[in-house]
Amino acid sequence: MDEVVALCKRRGLIFPASEIYGGIANTYDYGHYGVLLKNNVINAWWKAMIQERDDVVALDSAIIQHPRTWEASGHLAGFTDPLVDCKTCGKRYRADHLGELQCGRKPSKHPGETDECDLTEAREFNLMFATTIGPVAEAGSTVYLRPETAQGIFLDFKTTLQYARRKPPFGIAQVGKSFRNEITPGNFIFRTLEFEQMEMEFFVPPAEAEKWHEYWMQARMDWYVSLGIDPERLKLRAHGPDELSHYSSATSDIEYLYPIGWSELEGIANRGDFDLKQHAEYSGEKLEYFDPNAGERYVPHVIEPAAGVGRTVLALLCDAYDTDEIGGEKRTVLRLSPAVAPVKVAVLPLLRKDGHPEKAREIYLELRKHVSAEYDEGGAIGRRYRRQDEIGTPLAITIDHQTLEDDTVTVRDRDSLQQDRVPVGELLDRVTQLTR
Ligand code: ATP
Repeated sequence: MDEVVALCKRRGLIFPASEIYGGIANTYDYGHYGVLLKNNVINAWWKAMIQERDDVVALDSAIIQHPRTWEASGHLAGFTDPLVDCKTCGKRYRADHLGELQCGRKPSKHPGETDECDLTEAREFNLMFATTIGPVAEAGSTVYLRPETAQGIFLDFKTTLQYARRKPPFGIAQVGKSFRNEITPGNFIFRTLEFEQMEMEFFVPPAEAEKWHEYWMQARMDWYVSLGIDPERLKLRAHGPDELSHYSSATSDIEYLYPIGWSELEGIANRGDFDLKQHAEYSGEKLEYFDPNAGERYVPHVIEPAAGVGRTVLALLCDAYDTDEIGGEKRTVLRLSPAVAPVKVAVLPLLRKDGHPEKAREIYLELRKHVSAEYDEGGAIGRRYRRQDEIGTPLAITIDHQTLEDDTVTVRDRDSLQQDRVPVGELLDRVTQLTR
């Protein structure tokens, strides 16, 4: 993990937020290549959910919803972690994570393991961030930053049913930020206070819930493999009865073998009719579907694949991170699939003179109309290759004196390191084929 974190910082993919003030717990900023990588993940998700299907529609609901939302959803009462304080070191810990945490005084021990530790009884701590609407923090104006995007989807179920002209089984998908007041140290971007979720609520006739739960578990596993993640490092794990969320009748997590061990990448829950029924009760609106063929009304059940953008980015980075040796020199390389690589092709003039930069820019300007490309003329060619390897650029095109004679360039493959001579006229095909 430390190596991945160092690479992210070195190349400006992801780094601690508010760094000039010493940072802020579990909060990170994404720099240029990090944003490109993250956007590729989000776009791939939208593609799988919307472009390649016709039974899911898109939504972008508000982060701050009516406060009753969280009463109805059960989050106000039940979205809590058990906390303990140590009276000796003054640190606060999640009671259910003690075995993974370090004692404040003796880091080789867990909290509570030494004679000096003096832990309080566990008390429940709500993970929602509260804020106020209006200038005065008076009663009645308290609102919450959403801890999941799903509830916005349930609130808009009726509206969407009307305008989208869909009937169950159909889904509503959204991507957006969620916020949780996490106190466990985060393991880089694995657990952060604010994070983007990619969630889809799939509304189905009750009798079909189990079938669709199975379907989405498989579809979501396949999606991670399609991003280039090693299937050996992915697994499905069903929740035991004591782990289930308050709304869920069955949940399976897709876990990835992060450097910190097998951990949740995505949860796929059978939420039953819990949410729609709760919001119907609290709002007084009927949240049902009338099936004209059967002549009956029912509350659809919900299957929810809920993924985290940050955890997907982290899985991709850990999976792609590799080191090897070229000519006796150590190389760090991100073997990202071209589909998610921040930059698909780098265009590099061999020299900063003799017409190389002009020709290189001409090629670059053409390629960037089609794919994410980068032009770089700074430094020795070997160092420029190394820079591209570290951000996972699959192809590097070099313009040299021969280019000016016969209009060919060398194309270097990040993984095989093979260099082919390719006519400029064939470049676009070569590059777009790779990323298709
Ligand atoms: P965990 O048990 O790790 O806290 P969770 O089961 O509470 O996660 P869900 O409520 O199922 O998580 O949220 C769905 C997805 O959102 C998770 O699989 C994860 O990818 C992402 N996610 C949840 N909490 C965080 C967080 N604090 N930081 C980053 N991603 C998160």
